[in-house]
Amino acid sequence: MKKVAIGAGHGLNTRGKRTPDGEHEWMFNNQIVEATIRRLNDYEGVTILRLDDPTGKRDVPLEERTNKANNWGADILVTVHHNAYDGNWGTHSGTETYTYIGSWPNAEKLAREVHDRVVKAYGLTDRGLKKDNFHMLRESIMPAILVEGGFMDSSIDIKQMRKEAVLQEVGYAVAEGIAAYFSLKKGNSRDIKKGDRVVLKLSASRYATGEVIPDYVKGKTYTVQQVKSDRFLLQEIYSWVEEQDVEIKSRSSSDYDDKWIRSKVDGLRFYNKPSWSDDDVAGYVQKGYGFPVVIQKLKVGNGYQYEVKNSKGSIYYITAHSKYVYLD
Ligand SMILES: [Zn+2]
Repeated sequence: MKKVAIGAGHGLNTRGKRTPDGEHEWMFNNQIVEATIRRLNDYEGVTILRLDDPTGKRDVPLEERTNKANNWGADILVTVHHNAYDGNWGTHSGTETYTYIGSWPNAEKLAREVHDRVVKAYGLTDRGLKKDNFHMLRESIMPAILVEGGFMDSSIDIKQMRKEAVLQEVGYAVAEGIAAYFSLKKGNSRDIKKGDRVVLKLSASRYATGEVIPDYVKGKTYTVQQVKSDRFLLQEIYSWVEEQDVEIKSRSSSDYDDKWIRSKVDGLRFYNKPSWSDDDVAGYVQKGYGFPVVIQKLKVGNGYQYEVKNSKGSIYYITAHSKYVYLD
């Protein structure tokens, strides 16, 4: 089990730590850390300890943070911050990641994995890997990195920092970097597929696109319309949600739900019954045309046919060979 100690820098009300407009640094740091933890939980063989106060109320002292990580026996430590130049809006910009002064190959490897992904997710200038004598890096006994996501007083960076969806992607980037460092494997996908009915959990907080999920859509059952790696498009609310935010309610009865079968060739025969005989031919379909409903796949003679339904509800049979037909 790999042990990851992670914290958002400062507390909600730590003095100073503000954008020129008064936004709190911890808010940015926290959103990233929350997303990192969510995404890390998709992996197996990893356990997480949060070093800051998740409510933000208390600015946990630095010594308490490193003691916590050291006593727990963390394998790595990650702390997330946002930079400041002089507290006035300017065009300085970019992401940088720190390790402790001197040569620390493991910390540097972790920094590289995380930094490159964070730069990509933020889309800001790459200021590179740096070294400094920060408490969190010096007093921790495991490989430790400090990420400075962007500048709070940059008129460029703040635009990205104010987008919840960007902060979420940055959090995921940190998690993917950690996963790459440890070569973690994703947990077994629950194999939710199109047509399945799922319940949106009450604990769900944000759509996959980053917006807050209103309470009235939670706890209800929806149909999965589209699947994209770890996220699902729910038909009734036309919104993408993350895998961990849904629970399966019922499996779709068929693998072919909502799928058309179409011909790849002109003049493809279809039949009145499961048969390959000329006598049972019911008609022909042209290339790109087909049937809106596939019921099942049947073994017919030496090959396979799909039992299909046309728009009027009539049942026919057509070859299932991928040379001639495709599902879409
Ligand atoms: Zn900070």
